[in-house]
Amino acid sequence: MNLTDDTGRLYYVGGCVRDEILGLQPVDIDLCYEGDAIEYVKECGYEIIKTQKNIRTAKVLINGKEIDFASTRKEYYPKTGHLPVTTDTGCPLKDDLIRRDFTVNSIAKSVKTNKLFDPTGGQNDLENGILRVHHDKSFIDDPTRIIRGLKFSLRFGFKFDNHTENLKEEYLNNVNYDISYSRLKKELIDCFNLNRDEGLNRFINEKIYKLLSVQKPQKPLISIEKLTAEFKVKNPWLIYLGNSDLSKLQLTRSETKIIEEFNAIKENSNPYKICSKSDIRSILLWTAFVNPDKGLHYLRELRGVKPAITGQELLSLGFKGKQIGNILDNIWEEKFKNPNLTHAGELNIAKKYYRDN
Ligand code: ATP
Ligand code: MG
Repeated sequence: MNLTDDTGRLYYVGGCVRDEILGLQPVDIDLCYEGDAIEYVKECGYEIIKTQKNIRTAKVLINGKEIDFASTRKEYYPKTGHLPVTTDTGCPLKDDLIRRDFTVNSIAKSVKTNKLFDPTGGQNDLENGILRVHHDKSFIDDPTRIIRGLKFSLRFGFKFDNHTENLKEEYLNNVNYDISYSRLKKELIDCFNLNRDEGLNRFINEKIYKLLSVQKPQKPLISIEKLTAEFKVKNPWLIYLGNSDLSKLQLTRSETKIIEEFNAIKENSNPYKICSKSDIRSILLWTAFVNPDKGLHYLRELRGVKPAITGQELLSLGFKGKQIGNILDNIWEEKFKNPNLTHAGELNIAKKYYRDN
């Protein structure tokens, strides 16, 4: 994206500047105007899609692309762990930069001159792979930053500087559970979708799980990274959390269903039968946390195996409600022992059941 600016007050900020310095392709661009961004985009004549009047941001369309222009702002956390309140817009750029999470994400680049503005030593930290917060209350204000730190550490191999690490440990020993979990969940999903067993290990070993629950989560019995790769599972983040306490994460309906299916597989005497009707993610959860041998056997050899015979067919042969359920259970069991069992073989099981009962 090649923007132009005559005022010298428009800056690229945050992730895109960091990524460019690292020689990476930025995911998205964030723009910050030292002044009133809404007035600025109007003066430029850009097509405005949406504005947020209170914090003076504007979404505009440039060459068919939606671009966000923010005004520089100061923030204040009246209730720690919840969204901040904007106290001033159009403030000096430096004030906007020091409200951010880490110094490496607080570098601005002038759109007009390409000059970097880096009042907190972000470039130096970037060079040394260091994640450093701006002040001692940073994690208290917004504990999501601990997970963002894990994300950048997983993505770029960065480390917290000693002082930031101490602040993190201090916070994790005194977690405030009255926080907004929706942003935390988003960052956590980003972390786990980086698909690194390392992420999960660190989530547990560095006690980051404490942000969600006091209880330590169980470690998986096999590598989830290998498991999700072998069975090509998209968006496997829930699998990483296994059976930790997820109550604060406000799971969506489909996520709740995965957990319910996982519990059903775990508790059923004929797990394969439940597996055959379950989401692959529920099956992978069970495989990773409860029974890797059976799980892998099912996934590799038995997936897709189902009785050929139907309840309808058994009904037409004269069997009644409960009998049909029992017969189908027997057939399921036999079928999993012998996937090549034919339709005729299944009928024999039904007839045997009739003789025996
Ligand atoms: P990514 O490449 O994952 O998009 P990013 O650094 O651009 O990384 P965003 O979530 O897009 O992250 O946020 C943009 C910028 O906003 C960050 O670079 C950072 O300066 C600031 N920011 C984001 N989240 C927080 C937070 N929780 N606290 C303070 N500043 C934040
Ligand atoms: Mg970004």
